[in-house]
Amino acid sequence: MNITRFAPSPTGYIHLGNVRSAIYPYLIAKQSDGGNFILRIEDTDQNRYVEGATELILETLTWLGLDWDEGIEKGGDHSPYYQSERRDIYHAYARKLLKAGRAYADPTPSEKIDEYRKEDNEKKLPFLYRNHRPETADSSDAWEPGTPLRFKSDPKSVEWHDEVMGDLKTGPEVMDDIILIKKDGLPTYNFAHIVDDYEMQVTHIVRGVEYLSSMPNYLAIYEALGISHPKFVSLPHVLATQGNKKLSKRDGAKSVIDYKDEGVVKEAMLNYLACLGWNDGTEQEIYSKDELIEKFDISRIQTSGARFDEVKLLWQNGQWIRKIYDEQGVDALYDRTVSRDEASIKSNAINPTRDSLINFWPEIAMDYSEDYRKQVLSIIYDRLKVLSDLREYTTYFFEDPRIDLEFLQSNKFIKKLSETEQRDLLSAAIDKLQNVEDWTADNLQNTLNDLLAETGKKPAELFSLIRIAISYANFSPALHLTMAVLGKDRTIARLNATCSAIVNDL
Ligand code: GLU
Repeated sequence: MNITRFAPSPTGYIHLGNVRSAIYPYLIAKQSDGGNFILRIEDTDQNRYVEGATELILETLTWLGLDWDEGIEKGGDHSPYYQSERRDIYHAYARKLLKAGRAYADPTPSEKIDEYRKEDNEKKLPFLYRNHRPETADSSDAWEPGTPLRFKSDPKSVEWHDEVMGDLKTGPEVMDDIILIKKDGLPTYNFAHIVDDYEMQVTHIVRGVEYLSSMPNYLAIYEALGISHPKFVSLPHVLATQGNKKLSKRDGAKSVIDYKDEGVVKEAMLNYLACLGWNDGTEQEIYSKDELIEKFDISRIQTSGARFDEVKLLWQNGQWIRKIYDEQGVDALYDRTVSRDEASIKSNAINPTRDSLINFWPEIAMDYSEDYRKQVLSIIYDRLKVLSDLREYTTYFFEDPRIDLEFLQSNKFIKKLSETEQRDLLSAAIDKLQNVEDWTADNLQNTLNDLLAETGKKPAELFSLIRIAISYANFSPALHLTMAVLGKDRTIARLNATCSAIVNDL
């Protein structure tokens, strides 16, 4: 049975790289019968605590459907799940190390430590605290919280296996007397995660490669405590789109929630991130959550950095928007375009400008019926890359566009027609459309075909002219569908308006 955890620190936005460290352990847990995915909050660094960050973590996991079985808000056999509330547990483990002679209280003031560091730097020596271990370290096992507690290292070479990186080893030079419990009585990440993963019976630690360099110290602590360690699954960095740097906020890495707010659907985000550094060896690119659970395999996580590619994410999002429409229907997709999202209310502390009402439609669209918006969605959905494209792509369905002859005549097909020809074609179209009694897409398609035959024009010229005259948009769905949704009166009124503008311009 696999027991995994996501153990974020509430220090700000969670971006794409962080979330992969939640997706993979989720998948690993779900792959085994009775598997357990735990959410634990690593909040022992109170200086870095950011208001609202925990809520944002909850919102992100909930949005992506990464439901945890045990942890904050849910409870479980290993409560509490905020590290700041588990002080006594860490102190009990710390005392075991003290008793075994593997930890010591260190009253050395921080100024003194800075001096040691400086001295070593000057001598061009690596700074290792064990070379400055205070004399009392060996003579006393007394410790009272309020004084930092350090590990008493016993430098040696270590070898270990990482499920992604393979067999690894290091020499004794990297082991040191790291701090276990800080002056404020709270443990460091280095100590706390070892205790918690053991207590919570975690089977796989999934985290970024940045922790690899500390592995020798972690292994020494497991050994000194006499406990076994979980399997280690180290994930390669997510790299920025350009260059060889890790994706960071400075390179424009957005919070995962920013993508939600822009209309990336949860399925696409999960799909994209799961495949960022993992593939199943086939050409498949679209995976549902269930398929990921079925096919994910630790042994196929790549060892080199995975490059973040927003173009691909948005392409996958477009695919998912179609899939939702095709498989679940217009109502299901519509629900994603406008809804109240209670989860986002809670994380507003981190970004007070966020609104809990998700609405990807242009404002004016809300003056129309839901049914009409659904009709619009039905003909435009396959053009959307993100749901917020609705704002730009659908305005003309809700308000008459501004007539812009320059825009109309700069079109590469319309350019080929003189203004007189344009006027005549629009008049012919108006006459013909006026006679359509049953304003259905099929009838409109036939009428347009008749018009084409009668005028002898090229489809691109005639249809571009009509399309732009009714929409003034860079693109729109098929003309007969657009006209069917707009309705007879509006279509004809818009054609008339453009026709008159051309006449005035003659
Ligand atoms: N609290 C650590 C972080 O946010 C978690 C690392 C781990 O998963 O052990 O980076």
